[in-house]
Amino acid sequence: MRSNRLEEMLRTIEAEAWFTAPLSGRSSFDPKVMEAMEQVPRTAFVPPELIAHAFDNRPLPIGRGQTISQPYIVALMTDLLELQPTQTILEVGTGSGYQAAILAQLAQHVYSLEIIPSLAVEAATLLSRLGYTNISVKAGNGHAGWPEHAPYDGIIITAAATYLPPALLDQLKPGGRLVIPFGRPHMTQDLLLIQKDLGCKLHSRKILEVAFVPMMDEDHDSRTTQGSA
Ligand code: SAH
Repeated sequence: MRSNRLEEMLRTIEAEAWFTAPLSGRSSFDPKVMEAMEQVPRTAFVPPELIAHAFDNRPLPIGRGQTISQPYIVALMTDLLELQPTQTILEVGTGSGYQAAILAQLAQHVYSLEIIPSLAVEAATLLSRLGYTNISVKAGNGHAGWPEHAPYDGIIITAAATYLPPALLDQLKPGGRLVIPFGRPHMTQDLLLIQKDLGCKLHSRKILEVAFVPMMDEDHDSRTTQGSA
């Protein structure tokens, strides 16, 4: 049975989707996205002292200056990717691993890069403990993407980027979708949906304003830590 708090989170996401429809162009999300939001326990991804707030529709701190994103934004970004069960997705900014888990419910495999090695290890360990076998997490700078598994059907960047990393655009399949918060950190950014058409031409559309932690541009630690979950 769904808890009241989970139920409230799902209803809040639906209400926000409806309110932001004039900007986002979608008044409701794919039922499969909502099902993933119902099934992935956000409680497992927040620090123990914040469990009472796990279903609040807001970002929460996860340590090291980073956050787990707001559930509505996680649902919106996932919906924008229009995932299919055969698809391979790249995420930049693993953080807690929550967004990766949502994506993994809907796609075949999720590759996720995290610049802070300790967060990469913790997320990989948690995702593996939760039973995910279709998520690979690696510590590294997402600006370079993860060329070994490219091209990707979808790419999601969950930190604010001041430029569109060329490697990520290269690693997107023709026909693929990329979602990115674009703009200066510590202010609001434009959430962009970028589509690569079959002729490899890029089309960008602003969805709405969002506020993400900055995408860091230097290697946090040159030692890479790899884990599979
Ligand atoms: N998707 C996460 C939330 C991400 S917060 C979740 O569901 O919890 C943004 C994350 O991006 C942080 O963990 C931060 O360390 C990471 N990050 C910032 N710059 C990065 C970069 N260049 N490459 C990879 N990860 C980066």
